Amino acid sequence: MRQNIKKNEEQGWLPNVRKIPSPHFDQRPDKQDISLLVIHYISLPPEQFGGTYIDDFFQGKLDPSLHPYFEEIKELRVSAHCLINRQGEITQYVNFNDRAWHAGLSCFNGREKCNDFAIGIELEGSNEQPFTLPQYQALVKLTDYIMHHYPRITLDRIVGHCDISPGRKIDPGQYFDWKYYFSSLKSAKKA
Ligand SMILES: [Zn+2]
Repeated sequence: MRQNIKKNEEQGWLPNVRKIPSPHFDQRPDKQDISLLVIHYISLPPEQFGGTYIDDFFQGKLDPSLHPYFEEIKELRVSAHCLINRQGEITQYVNFNDRAWHAGLSCFNGREKCNDFAIGIELEGSNEQPFTLPQYQALVKLTDYIMHHYPRITLDRIVGHCDISPGRKIDPGQYFDWKYYFSSLKSAKKA
């Protein structure tokens, strides 16, 4: 068992979480350079939580006939490494060592194409409702894990999608509590 966990970790998959491999990924130009964490939100349909539409979307299996919004996004090929749903449950779609397609046109500290060197985490949410406590708790644990395994991701290299795609993206939005997130992260590190 311990052997398996170790193997998972080395191979870029989280131990003990739901895994739904997405076909929407490719190789990073430099596997050694994983040095940015990007926080996003997503809900499908917009403002609705629960169900498996996000899984379907990241797998390229979303049925466009089910909702007018699904019709609008049917051509998009996107993914994130992980999703944290409203209950704080984590699903991993893409191996951390591979490049997920979450940031799009983006720039961090003068460097473009953030997907090349970023890990993307989606929170199930929107700009209309606060995130849940279990989501923050899961995010803090996950961030701590990621920073441990990818030490180039330091506190000053954790950003929102809005920070790397300004004018184009607003997520994780007005309700994401950066102060609470960072203070919880710092206490988790001390523990
Ligand atoms: Zn985003």
